[in-house]
Amino acid sequence: MESAISARDRVGVQDFLLLENYNSEAAFIENLRRRYREGLIYTYIGSVLVSVNPYRELEIYSKQNMERHRGVNFYEISPHIFALANNSYRALRTERRDQCILLSGESGAGKTEASKKILQYYTHICPTRNNTHTIRERLLQSNPVLEAFGNAKTLRNDNSSRFGKYMDIQFDYKGAPIGGHILNYLLEKSRVAHQNHGERNFHIFYQLLEGGEEPLLKRLGLEKTNPQHYHYLVKGKCPRVSSINDKNGWKVVRNALTIIGFNEDEIQLMEIVAIVLHLGNIQFDINRCRECTLFFFSQQLLGVDGSVLKEALTHKKIVAKGEEVISQYPSALSARDSLAKAIYGRAFTWLVQKLNQSLAFKVCFYFLKCSSIIGLLDVYGFEVFQHNSFEQFCINYCNEKLQQLFVELTLKSEQEDYETEGVGWERVEYFNNKIICDLVEEKHKGIIAVLDEECLRRGDASDITFLEKLEDSLGGHAHFVTHKMANGKIRKAIGREEFRLVHYAGEVNYNVSGFLDKNNDLLCRHLKEVLCQSGNHIVSQCFHADELMDQRRPETAATEFKLSLAKLMEILMSKEPLYVRCIKPNDAKQPGGFDEVLVRHQVKYLGLMEYLRVRRAGFAYRRNFEVFLERYKSLCPDTWPNWRGTLPEGVATLVKHLNYKPEEYKLGRSKIFIRFPRTLFVTEDALEAK
Ligand code: ADP
Ligand code: MG
Repeated sequence: MESAISARDRVGVQDFLLLENYNSEAAFIENLRRRYREGLIYTYIGSVLVSVNPYRELEIYSKQNMERHRGVNFYEISPHIFALANNSYRALRTERRDQCILLSGESGAGKTEASKKILQYYTHICPTRNNTHTIRERLLQSNPVLEAFGNAKTLRNDNSSRFGKYMDIQFDYKGAPIGGHILNYLLEKSRVAHQNHGERNFHIFYQLLEGGEEPLLKRLGLEKTNPQHYHYLVKGKCPRVSSINDKNGWKVVRNALTIIGFNEDEIQLMEIVAIVLHLGNIQFDINRCRECTLFFFSQQLLGVDGSVLKEALTHKKIVAKGEEVISQYPSALSARDSLAKAIYGRAFTWLVQKLNQSLAFKVCFYFLKCSSIIGLLDVYGFEVFQHNSFEQFCINYCNEKLQQLFVELTLKSEQEDYETEGVGWERVEYFNNKIICDLVEEKHKGIIAVLDEECLRRGDASDITFLEKLEDSLGGHAHFVTHKMANGKIRKAIGREEFRLVHYAGEVNYNVSGFLDKNNDLLCRHLKEVLCQSGNHIVSQCFHADELMDQRRPETAATEFKLSLAKLMEILMSKEPLYVRCIKPNDAKQPGGFDEVLVRHQVKYLGLMEYLRVRRAGFAYRRNFEVFLERYKSLCPDTWPNWRGTLPEGVATLVKHLNYKPEEYKLGRSKIFIRFPRTLFVTEDALEAK
């Protein structure tokens, strides 16, 4: 007995529901810290998995360990990402309900690593059909490809995802993975032309230079392999990072592209990477040597006549009243940068489509209907830098939306359920961040609406007038402050070109400089025309002549993002959600370091304490009477199938037969609520033993 107590003291409890002092944040954090010290990075709150980044390789992800989790109940072994993955797979198989796993937490907390572990688990333990072998490999190999093109070193994370990703894994009726589909969200393409101090461009640039074979590099005109030679790679002043092996990264990407079946496209893809690097090196003081490079890459890689490209970069073409007017471009450098960003950004989307083609399961309609899905959501985490711009604004807005989903699907819906079902219940207060989502996305007066309006307005519209319009429209809002509106100490902390949002996860100051341009995201007509003629077929697929004919104005970047997030929310709402809440234990990326202030902050904004209270006060499971009966009535063969009573009577009879104690469950109007997961597991086991 004594040793059991001391073990518990040492390693803490594996489910926060078992914490004696569940109202105490200090006890919560102490439990996390103890477990972390022992190398136990996972802890449950009911069915939510809390994970703390270990910043070192742990020996808990082996194939044997995957095997160990196959078919085992959630509560029988210690908390693990595999157990969560297994749990959703079981639910998918037994209840035939699509699942989604939502990974959240700030940048560097471990979301992407966790999502990879989940994918590895499925591809390892699920049964195989004849031809699903290739699909498994492709599913796995899509990750290194996307990471090479979409991840970069930032101050927060050496392998930071700079795009949002939602991936469907499709399973057939036997539970074998048969296909996948990826949705990508807003790549941070400004990184192509500019990186903050201490950060890098996307990995692929360095990988190609460091690992590319000589003939390939020669063909691409990249004989100089030191990143220092490329203007787009030197802004952050850290071309090499000790934790990153670019040469090896290159091999991994090449191998992945081969498995996925890129063939000829691979060269064209690398041409895109080279085009961007060469573009960055164009200068407009036109010394002859530079011009040679321009002509070389323009002709060889882009397949466009060098003088045509030069003309397009220096002269602007506007169609006014049906006539073309050509004028000197005010800033050829910025035209060059938007060209590079546009090419890279669209090529990334092309890449995702290409991956999707290769992951698509080509089936007859019958199969499609039988397939079920587990979705994995790994989007950029909440982000605060010294200087925050349009990108951080979008990223943090996205995190607000996900938090809103958590609030709606767990805190709110759960409590409303108890009320409508008439089950006795003590209310738990929580912060509903809907007010912040509205602040950003509301029609007509939300921040995005005001921004779009300024983008449409000609004349004197600028980033500063945008800020002024925001003040007019949002002044007095509890979550919005500017220098003008603030007083005293706060005023000093907000710049004249900034607005501050009080996010659910903390305060962030956004500098408005560049907001209009980034939101407009327009590439001038002249440049588009050039790209439509490109001999590189990826470029020509990305830039269609139809686009030039289309007179309608494309959606702004923020609105497009807003619409795609709304669609994402719909997808997620249609599935059963499971949560992994990732915590970053220290800012120094150090194994073992546990910064209490930092952790407390995350525990707070991830809503973990509130969730724990809701769970403690409530029930672990709820099921419709019908679903519950359908699944378990066979455990009571004397009564079924000849039962003739109502659903509630049926459930009451069944639970009596199953020997549920009164404190273990409650019956509502249409659902049964089960307080402890264990109860359900025992019942499940009985079913399996039959
Ligand atoms: P996020 O996607 O949340 O920004 P990542 O998943 O990229 O964060 O994790 C950042 C880094 O932390 C990884 O590159 C890796 O070095 C380390 N890391 C995260 N999770 C784990 C884990 N489970 N085991 C070992 N290292 C990890
Ligand atoms: Mg990530």
